[in-house]
Amino acid sequence: MLTDLLDSTCVSSLSSLLAGARNVVITCHLSPDGDAMGSSLGLCRVLNNMGLNARVVVPDTPPKYLMFLPGADDIVIFSRSKVFAGRLFANADVVFCLDYNEPQRIDLVADMMLASPGRKVLIDHHLNPSSFPDVIISHPEESSTSVLVYKVLAALGLSGQVDREAATCLYTGMMTDTGNFSYNSNSADLYEVVGALVRCGIDKDAIYRQVYFSNSYNRLRLNGYAMLDKFEVFPEHRAALITLTREELNRFHYQKGDTEDLVNRPLTIPDVTYSVFLREESDYIKVSTRSKGDFPVNIMCKEHFNGGGHLNAAGGEFYGTMAEAVEVFHNLMPLFDKYLS
Ligand code: 5GP
Ligand code: MN
Repeated sequence: MLTDLLDSTCVSSLSSLLAGARNVVITCHLSPDGDAMGSSLGLCRVLNNMGLNARVVVPDTPPKYLMFLPGADDIVIFSRSKVFAGRLFANADVVFCLDYNEPQRIDLVADMMLASPGRKVLIDHHLNPSSFPDVIISHPEESSTSVLVYKVLAALGLSGQVDREAATCLYTGMMTDTGNFSYNSNSADLYEVVGALVRCGIDKDAIYRQVYFSNSYNRLRLNGYAMLDKFEVFPEHRAALITLTREELNRFHYQKGDTEDLVNRPLTIPDVTYSVFLREESDYIKVSTRSKGDFPVNIMCKEHFNGGGHLNAAGGEFYGTMAEAVEVFHNLMPLFDKYLS
């Protein structure tokens, strides 16, 4: 039995919202990852199966390695189709906010999302959800938004609408947000949901290969270069740093998603507790962080890098040069020694 997550008022308000709805827009965060895409496309598929007119709107182009997901070709990319997206929001009865906790995370989509007459439903697993949604289903203890979406559908009596395609999307989100079930993955519920999705006909091994066997020659070389020449360990602070400038990214014909797993690599060293990856974008430095145990990289990102996230996986943006970002990081390490146990 899946743990009962939702209280009955929440289930009934969501049920009645959906019963009265025709047009639905589903939104997820900037630079959508496996969980953002998987939860959004999985929910979209189920709502379409129920006869609703649901569309997914993402702020920017999804990475290529996620384009195998059923329904990915129908995603509305806001940066390319603002007028069409505007029409969808204007006609929406319900707007879902998946895998993000505050409007800034959907970047330029935020104004239209907030102005939409549609009732807002947030389903998310990040801490501190904003108060704008009409229905808030926030469960930071869940490992992914995708597993949470499955549990919400089950609570609504809609698990029968989860077909192979929807299950493929939800499984992908569950797999990617747990590093293929290697962290945040000790809950028995998680495997009950995996079992249910396998019974829907997914090929979990094929999904694994789609997501993780997606390297290109240039991507492998970029990652190899980063580990050889751009990776430092600071043993006294149990910290690791990887940096890549625009020039370096260009040298290896960087494509979105090419550095997806890089920040995790230093954590495979037992004595490294946290890892920071700085990637130069056109007008800021993207900060990506990961940690083990109780080390709170979300505090580091929130307080120093205009971001946030989870205890062990967080990110943000630094407005300045790479050299300045590195200097900030050097100054932060001693300040964060207090969190090392
Ligand atoms: P990644 O390092 O994969 O880009 O992001 C890891 C996690 O950090 C995300 O799931 C998200 O929770 C959080 N995160 C990443 N970038 C940002 C950001 O710019 N702002 C906030 N608030 N959170 C972020
Ligand atoms: Mn997530």
